[in-house]
Amino acid sequence: GLDSIGMAPAEPNVEVSEAFGADRNEMKVELGLGAYRTEDLQPYVLNVVKKAEKLMLERGENKEYLPIEGLGAFNKATAELLFGADNAVIQQQRVATVQGISGTGSLRLAAALIHSHFPTSQILISSPTWGNHKNILNDAGVAWSEYRYYDPLTVALDFQGMISDIKAAPEGCFVLLHGCAHNPTGIDPTPAQWQIIADVIEEKKHIPLFDVVYQGYASGSVEADASSVRLFAARGMELLVAQSYSKNMGLYAERIGAINVVCSSPDSAQRVKSQLKRLARGMYSNPPVHGARIVTNIVGNSDLFSEWEEELRMMAGRIKSVRKKLYECLSAKDKSGKDWSFFVKHIGMYSYAGLNEAQRERMRKKWHVYMTKDGRMALTGVSQAKCEYLADAFIDSYHN
Ligand code: PLP
Repeated sequence: GLDSIGMAPAEPNVEVSEAFGADRNEMKVELGLGAYRTEDLQPYVLNVVKKAEKLMLERGENKEYLPIEGLGAFNKATAELLFGADNAVIQQQRVATVQGISGTGSLRLAAALIHSHFPTSQILISSPTWGNHKNILNDAGVAWSEYRYYDPLTVALDFQGMISDIKAAPEGCFVLLHGCAHNPTGIDPTPAQWQIIADVIEEKKHIPLFDVVYQGYASGSVEADASSVRLFAARGMELLVAQSYSKNMGLYAERIGAINVVCSSPDSAQRVKSQLKRLARGMYSNPPVHGARIVTNIVGNSDLFSEWEEELRMMAGRIKSVRKKLYECLSAKDKSGKDWSFFVKHIGMYSYAGLNEAQRERMRKKWHVYMTKDGRMALTGVSQAKCEYLADAFIDSYHN
């Protein structure tokens, strides 16, 4: 009976936030976050989101079901934001876009599509990657293997390792790539490295699956953060792109995102879209409307769009300024000559600091600084005011 069901493993992030919550020390720092925080370390609702919601109330829109593929105007807006409205893939109607349950649900649809149409294919994922990628792929029955990505010695990209692992895989794999602001490391390939990655993927007839969660939130520019995806699209390659508005619009709980599949012809795109809809139907019938309307109102209105870009620059700018301050404190205080510059070289809200388990334990026990077991740190949990203290904690924990 049901009594035979055992306990599922605990979600690692939950342990961190519970331990942080229970800590009564006032100097404590939470680096296990999955969301943006203001300089006062409070959650943030974008002004532009409040404006879009006000518009929606005024219009008195109803709550009838959306079509299976989601809100049509949202699907158009989200694909155009990703690729650029004048992109050939859009102009030629080669993109199948279906609204998804945020980034996770859109990836889940992509995985279901891979499982049903390429049952013997495997997908290559970076080592390390966002923890949930493995859950999503396992649950969908998609086999995965890892390519090298992070070099602990340099706290930077193991580019040679990445390229040789993608080359060594059998032809026709899927390759999961983070569009920008790699989670958990904060390490992205350079534009020149992206070209080489695209060369190898093309040569091997692999199909990329991009995970794009931080468009605009990494660099502050929606164009710059989409450049990896656009580079692949410009080569005429087939590709899949999952999008999320959790971080870049702060719509975490609205669960709004999309899966875009770039095909070789409009006809192929229509067939792919029909299959995505069939898969969505059996999983959740049709997606929620509220977040889709918010995004559509913002992306589709030039005034709100410019205001959103300003808020993106503000959020990305705060993270960059914390990175800079932390690095300056570390360089001024650490007399050992250790190079802490990776903090300013990494991009987005996460960084790997290359701490081992004992060092992380010391950060937690002695300094009340909480990070996930894998050593990922969310810089959104840091304010300018905390940088001095955090630098002391790093230096003490690193060298002892
Ligand atoms: N992919 C990556 C790399 C992420 O970092 C996240 C969120 O942290 C997601 C996907 C999915 O987030 P959501 O399902 O909230 O859009």
